[in-house]
Amino acid sequence: MTDAPHIAPTRADAPREAPETLERRLPRQQTEERPFRPRRVLLTRAARDWPMATRVAERAAAMGAEIVELKGDRITGLKDGDPRAEYRRAKSTLAVTVASDSKMRPEPIPPSADWRFDLATGCPAHCQYCYLAGSLKGPPVTRLFANLPEILDRLPPLEGQGRITSTDAARAAEGTTFEASCYTDPLALEPLSDCLSDTIAWFGQKHGDLSLRFTTKFADTESLEATPHNGRTRIRFSVNAEEIARRFEGGTAPLSARLAAMGRLARAGYKVGLTIAPIMPIDGWQDAYDRLFAQAAAELPAGADLTAELITHRFTPGSREVLLVWYPATGLEMDPEVRTVKRNKFGGRKYVYPAPLMKDMRQTLEAGIARHLPGARMLYWT
Ligand code: SF4
Repeated sequence: MTDAPHIAPTRADAPREAPETLERRLPRQQTEERPFRPRRVLLTRAARDWPMATRVAERAAAMGAEIVELKGDRITGLKDGDPRAEYRRAKSTLAVTVASDSKMRPEPIPPSADWRFDLATGCPAHCQYCYLAGSLKGPPVTRLFANLPEILDRLPPLEGQGRITSTDAARAAEGTTFEASCYTDPLALEPLSDCLSDTIAWFGQKHGDLSLRFTTKFADTESLEATPHNGRTRIRFSVNAEEIARRFEGGTAPLSARLAAMGRLARAGYKVGLTIAPIMPIDGWQDAYDRLFAQAAAELPAGADLTAELITHRFTPGSREVLLVWYPATGLEMDPEVRTVKRNKFGGRKYVYPAPLMKDMRQTLEAGIARHLPGARMLYWT
């Protein structure tokens, strides 16, 4: 037993909306894997010079999407006076565009990796705690970058220059690491674009001591299993207690499908990982996370190269505001009153769980991982 404060994850006292709410019309977590099927694909003028744009247009048209060739390079047609209609339209649209010079510049991304780079920004899923809320401006459309060769060209000069794996003896074997899932879920876009298998193959060709990392809540990994990765990619699955995944992660693959995909990729020789996030102290959280680790262990082959990253739920005033517009009937706890405020060096606020609860959750989850997944290397807790 613990005397740490318990925080209920639901807003039981929150006013419920009438039945016809945005949230009720959103896809729940699917019972089986289904590909992202955009209703509309917007192709900017510059993107149409790249083969990826043609590939996406052909595959999306075969799925029944409307293909729109924009006159210029600005993404238009998403704004709507009604924020909910705008959300729906943006989430069902895929824009194929070209990353500008500044968008192609890799940025430091502690504590996950040395650098982040983007294959896309935005995500077609509907997680009610989405990390992107408040960090990407405008309607939540997914923008896929067609100029992948130019994006990858920027990476080799950064070899040995990062401040995470490049300088940490415990992680030095990973080489210079590049994180591809900061602003998107790249596996969601793979069936339409091959953007991820092309990137994995590029890292596999050894452009120096570089390695790729990304995390996903999707599970269609067939093309990745067939990609020559040469051990240069670690694929992590973003997982959670079953109840959290089911309630709050609309439009993603079921938890069991993600864990099965992790097992298949480990058997295909990939390094794999669990991104356990966002950790929440739901009723019975101790048992719920224990079951998760047992399920993960059951899927993995002996000797799998596995890491674990543990991230607790947090929100900022800005992300809370955006999420409550996107998911007005959410049951997700985002109550500043029961949280501890943490300030960054620029004065920005984020709300985290109180220290005693954090400590209890950390000890319990780390012990559960050590028990069920003794070969896992824990990278960080935050
Ligand atoms: S999968 Fe990740 S990026 Fe996509 S909606 Fe969920 S939290 Fe946001």
